Amino acid sequence: MRVTLLGPPGAGKGTHAVDLSREFGVPHISTGDIFREEMKSETELGKLARSYIDEGNLVPDDVTVDIVRGRLGKEDASAGFILDGFPRTIPQAEQLDGLLSGLGTALDTAIYLFAPEEVIIQRLSGRRVCRNCGAVFHVVNIPPRREGVCDRCGGELYRREDDAPEAIRQRMRQYESKTAGLVGYYESGGRLVRVDAGIARQETYRLLREIMAGLR
Ligand code: ADP
Ligand code: ZN
Repeated sequence: MRVTLLGPPGAGKGTHAVDLSREFGVPHISTGDIFREEMKSETELGKLARSYIDEGNLVPDDVTVDIVRGRLGKEDASAGFILDGFPRTIPQAEQLDGLLSGLGTALDTAIYLFAPEEVIIQRLSGRRVCRNCGAVFHVVNIPPRREGVCDRCGGELYRREDDAPEAIRQRMRQYESKTAGLVGYYESGGRLVRVDAGIARQETYRLLREIMAGLR
């Protein structure tokens, strides 16, 4: 199973990818998570990424594709993977196709998680993330048992810099101008599946699980 989760910020790509990865035993590869790790460790790559990410802009394609190439080449990705947040531009999608065909394989499906804009903004503005383990909460929708503290590891919860209102607006603009076109890209290749991500989380997950099970 080789899939990518597509959709606007806040659609729930990361949340569902974590659960699917656990259930189906294939790695979850999130370019956003990789960048945040690099930012936390203050590597050169992290510093470069931060200058784009905190403003709500995309990291340049060449940098992002290099990371994915390295990650997909690892042993654990050979039997399948769930990409989350990659590709985000048409050139990234084209390079992903090239990269996989070089490995003698191909992407099975792009799963498009769609949700109304009001829902997305509500989710992003209340999102809290664990500084330690990356678990995702929401002040209203998925509150932690103790305010500001991660249920899973006890780490500190924080609001991502790019979940500030102005950065959210910029991310939505970037999504519309650079990423939304991927829906047509995968649709014309007959590889697109649409899943409603504006409904209850468990309902969306049920639909995703069926799609994944069909790929086994
Ligand atoms: P979300 O889906 O909620 O916007 P992510 O964690 O997927 O969050 O991504 C956070 C940020 O990381 C993006 O706004 C962007 O700046 C950067 N990023 C992640 N993936 C890519 C990508 N494929 N291409 C360019 N930039 C990316
Ligand atoms: Zn945690």
